[in-house]
Amino acid sequence: MKGFISKGIGRVLVVNLQRGDLLLESIKEQLAEAGIRNAIVTSAIGSLQKAVFHRVTGMEPSPVDEFLTVEKPMELASLQGVVIDGEPHFHMVVSDLEQAYTGHLEEGTTVLYLVEISLAELTGLDVVRKKNDLNIATLYPKDGPA
Ligand SMILES: [Zn+2]
Repeated sequence: MKGFISKGIGRVLVVNLQRGDLLLESIKEQLAEAGIRNAIVTSAIGSLQKAVFHRVTGMEPSPVDEFLTVEKPMELASLQGVVIDGEPHFHMVVSDLEQAYTGHLEEGTTVLYLVEISLAELTGLDVVRKKNDLNIATLYPKDGPA
């Protein structure tokens, strides 16, 4: 277990996505344009026409993932996560008229009518995310030992 403390909260980025926009790709683009390297999602809601995500399928030491693409009208009920060193790690909850889906947001997820998302910049946080020897993304101090 490790904890990392930022100096504080900096700017807040509010993104408005419209029909056909790519969710993850657009967020990455906005973060890069603003020069935001570290952030937390404070809100994310909207609707999707295509959800691309993966989820775990077992209990082995290294994760085995199942990748899914769902294409139908869906509510984006929630999206949470952390941006570390410019790389988002987001999980989302989406639902169609019958069921809900949860998983790790992948590129290709597409907005139906709109998505509104806000992210709060974390200042003074020198952390990187690297895969450990079990292929699990793990946070390390930027200049510290891996
Ligand atoms: Zn994940």
